[in-house]
Amino acid sequence: MYKFISSSSKSKLIPLLSNSILYKSAYSSNWVSNSRNEISKFFHKPKNGNGSLVLWGQSGFRSYSSESDRETMNYDVVIVGAGPAGLSAAIKLKQVCQQKDVDLSVCVVEKGAEVGAHILSGNVFEPRALDELIPHWKEEEAPIDVPVTSDNFWLLTENRAFSLPSPFDNKGNYVISLSQLVRWLGQKAEELGVEIYPGFAASEILCNEHNEVTGIATNDMGVAKDGSRKENYQRGVALKGRVTLLAEGCRGSLSEKLIKKYNLREKGQGQHQTYALGIKEVWEIDADKQQPGYVLHTLGWPLDQKTYGGSFLYHMKDRQVAVGLVVALDYQNPFLNPYEEYQRFKRHPAIRPLLEGGTVLQYGARSLNEGGFQFSLVEQL
Ligand SMILES: Cc1cc2nc3c(=O)[nH]c(=O)nc-3n(C[C@H](O)[C@H](O)[C@H](O)COP(=O)(O)OP(=O)(O)OC[C@H]3O[C@@H](n4cnc5c(N)ncnc54)[C@H](O)[C@@H]3O)c2cc1C
Repeated sequence: MYKFISSSSKSKLIPLLSNSILYKSAYSSNWVSNSRNEISKFFHKPKNGNGSLVLWGQSGFRSYSSESDRETMNYDVVIVGAGPAGLSAAIKLKQVCQQKDVDLSVCVVEKGAEVGAHILSGNVFEPRALDELIPHWKEEEAPIDVPVTSDNFWLLTENRAFSLPSPFDNKGNYVISLSQLVRWLGQKAEELGVEIYPGFAASEILCNEHNEVTGIATNDMGVAKDGSRKENYQRGVALKGRVTLLAEGCRGSLSEKLIKKYNLREKGQGQHQTYALGIKEVWEIDADKQQPGYVLHTLGWPLDQKTYGGSFLYHMKDRQVAVGLVVALDYQNPFLNPYEEYQRFKRHPAIRPLLEGGTVLQYGARSLNEGGFQFSLVEQL
């Protein structure tokens, strides 16, 4: 699959890697099941010592070397996280490359087993940013096809629901599955030549002797609980970039390390971020209860007046409903259990009848940012 060339012959660019390996779509079932193997093979350290490998793909070349204790792949841009932010950035970069007729190599590492696996889906989507990024998304069959049809806002007490004027304006918005949209964005990115590596978590920031960020390293594999190396031990890989972009989502582990290391919040006088926990389930409900495009947000019960948060309930298509509760993580009552509050919410007399007879298809929880944009921005590097 690859040839090894000595350090002294770095300048010889040899088209070594079969495109079918690295550029195989991350969305074919093959890739999902084989990606780790394929990449592991690729990352496997040559037996005869240090050296370098230069690879040519659809999009220019990137170099490969094994000069330190771990293998290194060099890109122009390394992006951490294949969420909406990371993939949009990758797509935009490649679009600008096309416009300017330059070729930059861009890769995205994603810790989920596949793109979209860590995205908690079922959301109300405002398409303005996508209109700008991919104006023909409708023709390109983006999974966005349930417009919001009614926007409801209720104040709940323990036994009653009071309808209030909605503070949201969801006209022109859609009820979507965000993980499906992210998968589609991943396909679009790949079509433009972005290399996506699902199943690999970036676990370390790499810096040079001037303390400048030079890339990331993926986690070591095959490490036993006691820290010893198992038979299948494999050292993580360094992905170096002229630019490294962290798009880890809420409170990313590497982002937090960098913010701390460079003192970015204090320098930028940024307000400390505030966070919430979102708990969510996707239910399949009875056909006669479905209303695709129906959107409901609630305030009040089961949360008390000192706890910021509320619920959401979105009717998608195919009898599916996304239902969840968001609880700000600055709650004062140490005995409050957001999961228990969510269970109570589903038993409310105005909610229960919808879910009765239904089945939970998926569930998950994820933190989300609550802090205001302008006050939370950190100093730019
Ligand atoms: C319950 C809930 C409901 C929501 N509802 C809505 C809604 O209705 N409308 C709306 O607009 N927004 C909603 N949001 C917010 C929305 O999901 C986020 O704003 C959006 O997903 C942020 O995108 P992102 O790309 O920044 O991060 P994320 O979507 O979090 O993506 C980050 C990606 O990076 C990966 N990653 C993280 N760290 C690493 C690492 N070290 N190495 C490799 N990969 C890594 C993660 O696995 C993930 O795939 C909701 C959020 C939650 C939790």
